[in-house]
Amino acid sequence: MYCKICGQNKRGYRVFGIHMCRECMSELAFSSVYDEKYNFYMNIVRILLGYYIGERQLANPAN
Ligand SMILES: [Zn+2]
Repeated sequence: MYCKICGQNKRGYRVFGIHMCRECMSELAFSSVYDEKYNFYMNIVRILLGYYIGERQLANPAN
C-alpha cells in the first residue's frame, strides 16, 4: 500500500481510513508541539480527515 503522506510503497497502518507508513506514523506520534513539524503534520491530518469524509460520501469503488 502507498503511504498517503510520503507517497512511498511501505508497510504501515490504517489511520482515519488512510494508509500511513511506520515512518510517517512515528514522525506524527513523536512530534511535539514544540517541533516545527507538528503544525505540518496536524495540517496533513486535517487534510486526510477531509479526504476520508469526502471519500465516504461516494460509493466505495473496489480497489
Ligand atoms: Zn509515509
